Amino acid sequence: MNMNLTERFLKYTSFDTQSSDMSETTPSTPGQRRLAEAIAHELKEIGLEDIILDANSYLMATLPATTGREVPVIGFIAHLDTSPDLSGKDVNPRIVSYKGGDIVLSEKESVVLSPTMFPELNDYVGQELIVTDGTTLLGADDKAGVAAIISAVEYLKEHPEIEHGKVRIAFTPDEEIGKGANFFDVNRFGCKWAYTIDGGAIGELEYENFNAASARILFKGLNVHPGTAKDKMVNASLLAIEFASWLPSEQRPEHTDNYEGFFHLTSMKGEVEEASLTYIIRDHDRTLFEQKKELLKSLTERMNRKHPGSTCLLQADQYYNMREMVEPKQHIIRLAFDAMEAVGVTPVVKPIRGGTDGARLSFMGLPCPNLFAGGLNFHGRYEFLPIASLEKSMQTIIKIIESI
Ligand SMILES: [Zn+2]
Repeated sequence: MNMNLTERFLKYTSFDTQSSDMSETTPSTPGQRRLAEAIAHELKEIGLEDIILDANSYLMATLPATTGREVPVIGFIAHLDTSPDLSGKDVNPRIVSYKGGDIVLSEKESVVLSPTMFPELNDYVGQELIVTDGTTLLGADDKAGVAAIISAVEYLKEHPEIEHGKVRIAFTPDEEIGKGANFFDVNRFGCKWAYTIDGGAIGELEYENFNAASARILFKGLNVHPGTAKDKMVNASLLAIEFASWLPSEQRPEHTDNYEGFFHLTSMKGEVEEASLTYIIRDHDRTLFEQKKELLKSLTERMNRKHPGSTCLLQADQYYNMREMVEPKQHIIRLAFDAMEAVGVTPVVKPIRGGTDGARLSFMGLPCPNLFAGGLNFHGRYEFLPIASLEKSMQTIIKIIESI
């Protein structure tokens, strides 16, 4: 059975692998396990070795070397899950020959993919695009990466005349809920370095990401009958609103770009007795990141001075900028850069305004830049995947393996 790359991608989109941060299990949802099992089966048919699908649904396999030469073992990684932001169930992908202008995704719900809203569409006139039916996400993040890696190793398996070293591949659960690296066995993977194939548009090469923390601020109020509340009542919801207003309003996701960090209020809950604010904190610069965390601490103290014992801050780091781990090993970047150029892709180096599995893996001893898988508009109904970009992702992987 030899599937072409597009068919392979389309097959993976039929698995509902939306992850859930409400779940305590790994993987967080059973669909990820089902996809991992299907892929394990596929890898066996392709003829890969050491295929291990562990209890947490981390899947690893080996493409054996075809050369006796000493070559460093490198790896490629993609994630199985799709974003909790929108359903990935019953994805109904469609291939469109894009002639420019609007693409009606859903007539019924009047969902239109339009270059007015997404000018980057104009770069893909004349190409075949895989789009959604306007009701789900597509899942190119990161099933495009999964498909590109598997098709690349399949190609090399079928062309043993191409000399290369041992290559490891891995597919991980729950990246979208920030847990993709939790149970990743770096020793078992056994690579000098690796690449996640989890980037967006063609050419993307990323080795800088946010430093990331989460924060929860809990407010305790004092409820009294409102008719007799004077000088007694403390309304926790109002404390939360006041606290939120102390944060710099220009440092929000909707007002920041490139290397600018932010505080993002992801959720607020409030009654008179109790309220809470949940934030994520992001900054590429480690010093500015630490300052942001300090600010939350000092505002918590400020609120406690006004209302003693009312406010408590729970803060935890999530991941760090991989730049400090990857930059000292410039050849890792160079190799990817040259491979892209060799297959006719112009590398586009830019900072990730988010994180990847690779960021955490880099700090676990596996330097791990991120390369494009080709998709755009991740995590929503406007997600689309240009087939030519997906093919270039696969070719880049093959070229990296060949040229090491
Ligand atoms: Zn992803």
